[in-house]
Amino acid sequence: MAERLLIAGGGIGGLAAGCAAAQAGWEVQLLERAPAFTEVGAGVQLGPNVTRILKAWGLSEALKNVAALPEALHARSVTSGAVLSTLPLGAAMQTRYGAPYVSVHRADLHALLLQAAQNQGVVLQTDTTVLIAEQAVEGVTVHAQCGAIHPRYTGQALVVADGVWSPLRQQLLQDGPPTYSGHLAYRALVSQAQLPQHLRTQDATVWMGALAHVVVYPVRGGDFLNVVCLVEAHADGVDAEAIKSWTAQKTPTQTQQDLHTALRDACTPLRALIDACHGLGPWHLWPLCARPPMQGAFQQAQGRMALLGDAAHPMLPYLAQGAGMAIEDAAELGAQLTHCTSAQVPQRLAAYAQARWQRNARVQARATRNGRIFHATGPMRWGRDLGLRLAGARLMDTPWLYGENC
Ligand SMILES: Cc1cc2nc3c(=O)[nH]c(=O)nc-3n(C[C@H](O)[C@H](O)[C@H](O)COP(=O)(O)OP(=O)(O)OC[C@H]3O[C@@H](n4cnc5c(N)ncnc54)[C@H](O)[C@@H]3O)c2cc1C
Repeated sequence: MAERLLIAGGGIGGLAAGCAAAQAGWEVQLLERAPAFTEVGAGVQLGPNVTRILKAWGLSEALKNVAALPEALHARSVTSGAVLSTLPLGAAMQTRYGAPYVSVHRADLHALLLQAAQNQGVVLQTDTTVLIAEQAVEGVTVHAQCGAIHPRYTGQALVVADGVWSPLRQQLLQDGPPTYSGHLAYRALVSQAQLPQHLRTQDATVWMGALAHVVVYPVRGGDFLNVVCLVEAHADGVDAEAIKSWTAQKTPTQTQQDLHTALRDACTPLRALIDACHGLGPWHLWPLCARPPMQGAFQQAQGRMALLGDAAHPMLPYLAQGAGMAIEDAAELGAQLTHCTSAQVPQRLAAYAQARWQRNARVQARATRNGRIFHATGPMRWGRDLGLRLAGARLMDTPWLYGENC
């Protein structure tokens, strides 16, 4: 009889874990707090390290049907508009790393993973909040809430994939909630057909300013443009929960004004794009919360419980790899669960944690460092722009991240 894996959380990470474990021959039961499987937010970029895994899972075609394939990533100055450097993507990435660099709407990525999980027989249960988990020698018991009912689920292992605020992580590691990074993300999704011709693009661009940057890339086969403005708004002594409710109370007009102030030095083309977005759709505001880089394998698995995705290693989105690392976690988990008996679970999850934590920590640290570079002021900003002009494509490429067996 197949062993049973429980998964808490049905975001990109939880669904990817479900697919990987089902492919490894496990019976999988996934518990999601929300009343329906949906994904909020706008786009995500996926590097070759991630699309390679989706290809191995047989999802290349489904991804190709919904993704955009930017030909290049441009680094530009927020203030002057100058192109500082360009990294070829498209065929260059495919040739170099054997897999494409894509940009995709999160809902589309989520939907294709959901479909794959369903096709593989993963049992999906919505409206079910996991409250607490207990480990015993032979298995795990999860206590949940589903309306007025308090069901219990048992399995041989539990994957904790309940996101950046993960209450299960806090129970397991006793390390409190994540902290507010001092950075806000304003996201808009606009139809390219509704933009003036000169603002449409099929390339990805990162506009770098002082204390702010803007990321733009196509999604939905290139029909829509995902625009994300990331600005520093430090609030000393304010905790992450307070920032979350502060941002939730902002009206669309206030959000628009705040953004205008943060990007007051922007050059004409960037300002035109932001102004066009004001007219075409609402801006959604996210406070970015994170944790310091992982410090050891104990933060990724203990006994029969494994943490995965943002629950394990929440990071700033400045390397565009949060969902990517969740999918990489899932692939490693699937490898460890292959031919794994119940008695072997703790040892296999320890091997999963050992294989993953250092890479996750490196990506978390690099994302934070990128934030400092993207938001540089004074002489550091001048040095950044010069460096990008002289050695840009080499600086922007990340073979250690995108390459196979890295
Ligand atoms: C502005 C921005 C841009 C980004 N850009 C990129 C990018 O370009 N590339 C990239 O790879 N990543 C990107 N990311 C990061 C990426 O979005 C996340 O890392 C990824 O979505 C995390 O997935 P997850 O499944 O771990 O967590 P989540 O997506 O948070 O999923 C957690 C799930 O668990 C559920 N849940 C919570 N608590 C419970 C509970 N108690 N019981 C049951 N269910 C529960 C939630 O409802 C949710 O469905 C970006 C993030 C931001 C904020």
